[in-house]
Amino acid sequence: MNILPGGGDCSSLSLPGATLGILGGGQLGRMFTTAARTLGYQVIVLDPDPHSPAAHFANQHIVADFSDLHALETLGKACAAVSTEFENVPADSLRFLAQFCTVHPDADAVAISQDRISEKQFFTAQGFPCARFAVIQSRDDIAPALHQISTAESHPTLLKRSQLGYDGKGQARVNHIDDALRAFDEMGGAPCVLEEFVPLALEVSVILARGTDAQIAVFPLAENQHRSGILDVTLVPARIPDTLAEQARQLAMQIAECLNYCGVLTVELFVTVDGRLLINEIAPRPHNSGHYTLDACVTDQFEQQVRALCGLPLGDTRLLSSAVMVNLLGDLWNGDMPCWKNILSCPQAKLHLYGKRDARPGRKMGHFTVMDATIEQALALALNIKGKMGG
Ligand code: AMP
Repeated sequence: MNILPGGGDCSSLSLPGATLGILGGGQLGRMFTTAARTLGYQVIVLDPDPHSPAAHFANQHIVADFSDLHALETLGKACAAVSTEFENVPADSLRFLAQFCTVHPDADAVAISQDRISEKQFFTAQGFPCARFAVIQSRDDIAPALHQISTAESHPTLLKRSQLGYDGKGQARVNHIDDALRAFDEMGGAPCVLEEFVPLALEVSVILARGTDAQIAVFPLAENQHRSGILDVTLVPARIPDTLAEQARQLAMQIAECLNYCGVLTVELFVTVDGRLLINEIAPRPHNSGHYTLDACVTDQFEQQVRALCGLPLGDTRLLSSAVMVNLLGDLWNGDMPCWKNILSCPQAKLHLYGKRDARPGRKMGHFTVMDATIEQALALALNIKGKMGG
């Protein structure tokens, strides 16, 4: 049977009934697992945490480290195809797995996105716009980097760890050489980038999927508001001019082409106060800012991840309603389950909880999405609920 548009390569086609693997059993792995099982696939999760949220829905859970070669071989031999829920899986683990089964996205694309230095060097080499930056490998690089990036002595810059930073962790705002040296030491002297601090009007993200046949489907642009470096609220459609939205989509598609990417790709962009687009970072996977697709689009980002991984035609990304997504962080728990009445009693709201056992401040425990006729109405309703919950 050939179900690929235009008679594509069926060698990487995995149909329902096949077994899929996911590296990482957090909320993104859980939503991938749910989507895959809904489509009739079996799912094996590999994650070192015996209580990982995805394991509740998977057929099998391999409790092992992401670099455990024996566990990876077991996974690879049992699966037709494997994907990843996050970029910090060692790229070598993906290379190793690829001996046994289909792996999307591939190790090279993941390697670029798991290291800010290689990611920014990739943007620059390919001519994609990003904030000015300098590479810091040692303390000696800091003074020349500050000189290069700051336009005046007090001009702020951001020092970001090259690897293992997320949700604003592993980064510090630095104004002077002393701040920069202190921040670098506090980050353990690990390689960093020093980045210009850009005055932002808005932050947006483009999530797309590129299939094995190179077809691309782009989800509607999301506008993202952060609090303490963590995504707080996503509004869709993003409130930016159509021309800028189209430019953002084009940039994201060009990145996917450059990487010869297969899978779901997220591109986070800044809209500067003077109306320019700068690429902040890419994630080789579905994204928190795409959770609205679960309730507001014909196809959601996790079903799309399954489709791209399995070589199936991509689904329709059409937005069915304006939507506002609000993250529910562990701070809301306060020793007890929050009262869900405010969300559940609102007919336009959908609650998603990730089944995590321990609620810690800043930990993503769930989200809710409000859908309404206009983005203004959805936002007013969402903020009203959020306010009542103490968010
Ligand atoms: P990141 O970990 O790089 O995604 O950064 C987390 C958040 O910090 C972003 O979502 C922005 O709100 C802010 N941020 C990061 N880089 C910059 C920058 N160069 N200029 C201004 N704000 C930034």
